[in-house]
Amino acid sequence: MSLAPVLQSLPAVSHSTPLGRAVDYLRISVTDRCNERCLYCLPEHFQKWTPREEILSYEEILAVVEVAVARGFKHFRVTGGEPLIRKDIVPFIAALIRASGVETVQITTNGTQLPLLAGPLRNVGLNRLNISLDALDAGRYSEITRGSLGPVLAGIRMAKSLGFESIKLNTVLIRHKNEDQIWPLVEFAASLQIPIRFIELMPVSLSEMLTEENFLPVSEVMSLLSARDTLEPLEPKLGHGPAKYFRLRKTGAIVGFIGALTDLHFCEACNKVRLTADGKLRPCLGNHGEFDLKPALRPSLNREALRAAFDQGLAEKPPEHVFRNNWQPQRIMTAIGG
Ligand code: SAM
Repeated sequence: MSLAPVLQSLPAVSHSTPLGRAVDYLRISVTDRCNERCLYCLPEHFQKWTPREEILSYEEILAVVEVAVARGFKHFRVTGGEPLIRKDIVPFIAALIRASGVETVQITTNGTQLPLLAGPLRNVGLNRLNISLDALDAGRYSEITRGSLGPVLAGIRMAKSLGFESIKLNTVLIRHKNEDQIWPLVEFAASLQIPIRFIELMPVSLSEMLTEENFLPVSEVMSLLSARDTLEPLEPKLGHGPAKYFRLRKTGAIVGFIGALTDLHFCEACNKVRLTADGKLRPCLGNHGEFDLKPALRPSLNREALRAAFDQGLAEKPPEHVFRNNWQPQRIMTAIGG
């Protein structure tokens, strides 16, 4: 079953949306490897990892960060794959936090390594974590991620107790798989006073996942939550991205909605570009264009060439994604950086 009927019912999006926003946020994929296999992200037996020698070294990543800072970038997120399974990630995060001009550093993680690494990361000054959590029921969690829930919950609680300034939970919505987990997740997030964001399924790794049967729009989640509580728009808004936040009056939960497919103004607030694990600048997740920075990094760093390649990628950031346009992914999300 395809998603076409759902998407065709949406009004057409103008392709002349002006950029009109500051792009100051770089998402860095430090590895395409992952220790989980989320249904919507990595095929269960996937093993076609990028060869290690193709992956940027930490030094090469920091050279790109230096150029980004010179171009006005302030915010950096380290992701993957699972960033916390890459060797020596803690000293790299320490170096990134210390890098001149870097204002915020965040990590997006599946949380499995947090029982081991939350302390060391906090000790080197990391303040911000986004943790993926698609279900609170252990069986359901395994069904979606093929991983185990226990360490993730322990990691979330540990991060909370260590006093990270910002922790957010991310839940990808899949109809029939985690619809019934939404309210328990909201209550869990409220009990820890952590915001939770619900993300619409995107066809980023596996286009066959985005079907009418699997797709659960954020509007339905808003209706579901409104039946139990009152949603009040959160002011001032949280974060720098396109998520829309509300406070639930009774539970006190802070809930964000990332309507990547159904919010027709979604891309207007997009302030980011991505650095892929193998050294490509990717201005938009939902457009195939990539700009190879590696020739400017190897065999030795050529700053001028790096600046030129970075600038070209930035200049060619498209006004919006084309996911609604029968999008066919060319490579998996973990290599691009989620
Ligand atoms: N391993 C880390 C994690 O699990 O958070 C970081 C990488 S993961 C690719 C980053 C984010 O992308 C997660 O929040 C994940 O749920 C989201 N993601 C992956 N595939 C997606 C898809 N098809 N649609 C929407 N979000 C997706």
